[in-house]
Amino acid sequence: DVVLSNVDKSYGALEVIGGLNLSIEDGSFTVFVGPSGCGKSTLLRMIAGLEPISGGEVQIGGRRVNEAEPIERGVAMVFQNYALYPHMSVEQNIGFSLRMAGLNRSQIATRVAAAAASLQLEPLMKRKPAELSGGQRQRVAIGRAIVRNPEVFLFDEPLSNLDAELRVSMRVEIAKLHRQLGSTMIYVTHDQTEAMTLADKIVVMRAGKIEQEGTPEALYEDPVNMFVAGFIGSPR
Ligand code: ATP
Ligand code: MG
Repeated sequence: DVVLSNVDKSYGALEVIGGLNLSIEDGSFTVFVGPSGCGKSTLLRMIAGLEPISGGEVQIGGRRVNEAEPIERGVAMVFQNYALYPHMSVEQNIGFSLRMAGLNRSQIATRVAAAAASLQLEPLMKRKPAELSGGQRQRVAIGRAIVRNPEVFLFDEPLSNLDAELRVSMRVEIAKLHRQLGSTMIYVTHDQTEAMTLADKIVVMRAGKIEQEGTPEALYEDPVNMFVAGFIGSPR
């Protein structure tokens, strides 16, 4: 499980996350929603180890990881802006982290090929990111995460730069990946449909705190207040 206990985060005098407690079950799909600036990306970055926490404890798989480097945490993050290496081909982008981890050429080739196949990237392997569409770039970004075989995937608004049609098809692919891989997925979005269709559990955040968490049905049927109702699209 991914467990956050009493986690605080401040940037200077600005408290962004305050005393946050949350437990995310292995293999589950958890979606975070909440207004711009409420701390969703900060939370993902703290789980990933890209941002130090100011207080509390983060555990992944029963292990305290407060001081662990990102690469030691068994997580992989997919960003809104894809964050691909522009000078590398698709193949090199996907294999880069494995090269850094010291795998040999044939091990890398095998794993890159498997990731590429699951995302239909084979015909694009020699291209550079600038020669890809937005949807194709996002596939590469997901491929780069998959190839590492992480226990936990962290997605920060991965589909928000795609047009509506592509967003739907990529959403279906992400759901399929979750079923196939069985890994834990933690996903931030502003899109109600994504939240309602992908989530086992939705966490509604407001100003660095959890306003309510529960299944999509529970939040829709029984929001604690108008704020939650507004985010879930429930009629109340
Ligand atoms: P959005 O939906 O717009 O992506 P968010 O919920 O992801 O918003 P965060 O990016 O986590 O919000 O930011 C939370 C707060 O922390 C904001 O007030 C933001 O301005 C502030 N913040 C984020 N990163 C930094 C930083 N490196 N230095 C100072 N303040 C920061
Ligand atoms: Mg954000």
